[in-house]
Amino acid sequence: MDFDLTAEEQRFEEEVEAFLRENWSADVMDPQPEQLSQTVDSPAKRAFVAKLAERGWLGMSWPREYGGQERSGIYDFILTEALSRYGAPQPGKGVGIVGKTLIRHGSEAMKRAFLPRIIRGEIEFAIGYSEPNAGSDAANMQLRATRVDGGWRLDGQKSWTTSAHFADYYWLGARTDRSHKHKGITLFLIPMQQPGLTVRPIHTIGDERTNEVFFDGVFAPDDTVVGQVNHGWTYICEALDLERFAMMPVGPLEMKTRALVDHVRRGQRDGLPLARDPGCRRRLAKVVTELEVSRMLQRRVIAAALRNDVPTVESSQYKLFMNETGQRLANTALDLMGPEGTLRPGTEGAPLNGRFERSYRYTIVDTIGGGASEIQKNIIAARGLGLPRS
Ligand SMILES: Cc1cc2nc3c(=O)[nH]c(=O)nc-3n(C[C@H](O)[C@H](O)[C@H](O)COP(=O)(O)OP(=O)(O)OC[C@H]3O[C@@H](n4cnc5c(N)ncnc54)[C@H](O)[C@@H]3O)c2cc1C
Repeated sequence: MDFDLTAEEQRFEEEVEAFLRENWSADVMDPQPEQLSQTVDSPAKRAFVAKLAERGWLGMSWPREYGGQERSGIYDFILTEALSRYGAPQPGKGVGIVGKTLIRHGSEAMKRAFLPRIIRGEIEFAIGYSEPNAGSDAANMQLRATRVDGGWRLDGQKSWTTSAHFADYYWLGARTDRSHKHKGITLFLIPMQQPGLTVRPIHTIGDERTNEVFFDGVFAPDDTVVGQVNHGWTYICEALDLERFAMMPVGPLEMKTRALVDHVRRGQRDGLPLARDPGCRRRLAKVVTELEVSRMLQRRVIAAALRNDVPTVESSQYKLFMNETGQRLANTALDLMGPEGTLRPGTEGAPLNGRFERSYRYTIVDTIGGGASEIQKNIIAARGLGLPRS
């Protein structure tokens, strides 16, 4: 099976890499990238995303009538991976989740209002599905939408809404019919500044901020409903399938593995070269092999998506294995570095400036966000192996 990029795809990858080298900036990029450290949360990062847009790299796979180029999703994949290796901001939410869903289901007015601004990289979105009692079971969302004159009144709470403190718009699911679980959810797209919304921070163990958001009589006019009332769950599931090419990249794991290998090549312990230590060599061999398995699992997802299959089981296998490899890598690094490995970034004497102390904390969060490891295992058992639900 040939997983290599074609000559044209390789040229695109080189072009993106050259652009990233030329535009490298500590204000915009994380020199020690983690999955969660690549949000568009500052004016400098927005300006960077606008540069990607000027190059025509946003919405490459969108239809031409909406400003896209109808290119294969593999180009979105190449872009996402390159950005992730440089710790650069990821514009995926607007282009992928919101943009592609609006193209399929949005009203003409919504398409006119949002698609040109998304493809120019001008607006940022927060995604609100999770609630205190609706995380793994997101379809249990209870944020109440009550019919009022000209629209809906929203009351209740969302939790874990990343980006809510800087986004321009809120893409959220709310319950419009209490008599059906999955068929009682409607998607809304409202301004983040709408009166009645309160955003409070949740600081994660991985340093990054997410939020809880409270709704107190927030008015959502009829024209903020995406598609049809009570069809929201279908659109939410579909958006997951549309996003295979810009899903969790493997780039940060590659960069961390490379950094650890370099450290072992150059480092010493008790006056002896780490590279000669048999235990150290064994553990390093294991982590580079696990990186390679992660890359292959990801290529299987991409290959299936290119065939227009829905690689649900493959995606779960990739997310489960890649995220847990990230945790094992951080564990290995801290073991090899000894007590200094636990020094935080910025502390004098911290090996690799505390990179793996930070990574140890970030990679715990990776195994929860976007569907916890236990949920991925349930999907593999039920859909992959056909086992009954436990
Ligand atoms: C940093 C971060 C950012 C996030 N950003 C967003 C965002 O922008 N928008 C958004 O909508 N959501 C976001 N989330 C929410 C994320 O999707 C949920 O945290 C995740 O789905 C888990 O839900 P929960 O936290 O409610 O945990 P729960 O669902 O309560 O799970 C708790 C534990 O029980 C286990 N568990 C639950 N059900 C089962 C089961 N059936 N079988 C076996 N084990 C089970 C889980 O695996 C987990 O270990 C974010 C989360 C984090 C941590």
